[in-house]
Formats: sequence, structure tokens, C-alpha cells
Amino acid sequence: MHYTRTAEPRTLGDHTWHNQAACLSTPANPIDPEIFFPEPDEMDRIRAAKALCAQCPVRQICLDAALEAGDREGIRGGTTEEEREPLHRNIHRRLDYARVNATLAGRDIHLTDAERRAVTRAAYQAGIPAEHLARLLKVTEEHAEKRYRQVRREIRNRSVDDRKNDDETLTASQITRDDLGTAA
Ligand code: SF4
Repeated sequence: MHYTRTAEPRTLGDHTWHNQAACLSTPANPIDPEIFFPEPDEMDRIRAAKALCAQCPVRQICLDAALEAGDREGIRGGTTEEEREPLHRNIHRRLDYARVNATLAGRDIHLTDAERRAVTRAAYQAGIPAEHLARLLKVTEEHAEKRYRQVRREIRNRSVDDRKNDDETLTASQITRDDLGTAA
């Protein structure tokens, strides 16, 4: 199962989406919360819960929140515990540019390590001062400077690698030409 993004990223600490949840039980529309905690073979409960999730306007946010909080129990965002397990295992690798851009725009978003690196790279390339990056990532200015030094090193290493690859390509083409020349 792959992680896909369809909704605006949720701001940290924002629980207002609960009010829009299709599983919100009200006197006019009572929902049995137990259907969201079925045994793996309780297909009727699973089907009933998933049917609610399918029409839920905050389904993606619900799934995001469960993954970010490590909430492995019950049906969340239309996924069972078993279906969600691979997503939990891979959440640290998520690289969602909607989150990266929202963070750069100053929103308080839950980011994975990969997304924090992307924010740092984008901020560095945009010439954003370390002090501002520190505020975006909620780290000290000293740590933001350290992150910029890492990005500088990565860029430098990449350009050395690119030059090395160019040299190797050139050498290979020279050898080919020389060999052809000798053969002729
Ligand atoms: S996606 Fe499902 S579990 Fe999540 S809030 Fe909506 S109805 Fe409830």
C-alpha cells in the first residue's frame, strides 16, 4: 500500500477536523465506536467502518494523524490495522512537497526527517537566513547553521561527483577513439 496525499497538511495540534468526521457520534446520528476496532475476521464491522470512512471528508487527515502519532490500533482513514502497518513502517521516508511548501510558508506542520531535509535544502537555495530556518524547524539557530553546512557539503560533494563522472565519460570516449584509431 502506498501513501498518497489528497488533502491540505494538518497543522500541529489542530484537532478541529474531528468535528467533520463521518464517525462523529451524535444523538441524531449515533455511531457504534466498536466497529472501528474489529477482529481481523469481523468482516461486517470492517465493511461498516470502511463505508463510513469512504464518505468522510477528513479521511486523509485522519490517516495522516494516525501515522504521525503512531496510532496502530483500529480502523483509521479507511485502513485496517493490518493495511496500515506498512505505512507506519515507511512513514519516516515520506517526502510530501505539500508539507515542505506549507512549512516554508510558515505553517506548523508535522514533518519526517526527509521532509525536514527538503525544507533545509529549499531554504538554503532561497537564501533564507539560518535564523529564519531555525524558526521554521523549531531548532536553535546554531543547529540551523549546522544543517546549512550539511547542505553545502552535499552540494559540494555532488558537484565533485558530477565532475568525476564527466572525466570518466571523457576518458572512456578517448579510449574508444584511440582504440579505433589503432585498429584502423
Ligand atoms: S476516516 Fe474514518 S476513522 Fe477517520 S475520521 Fe473519518 S470516519 Fe472516522
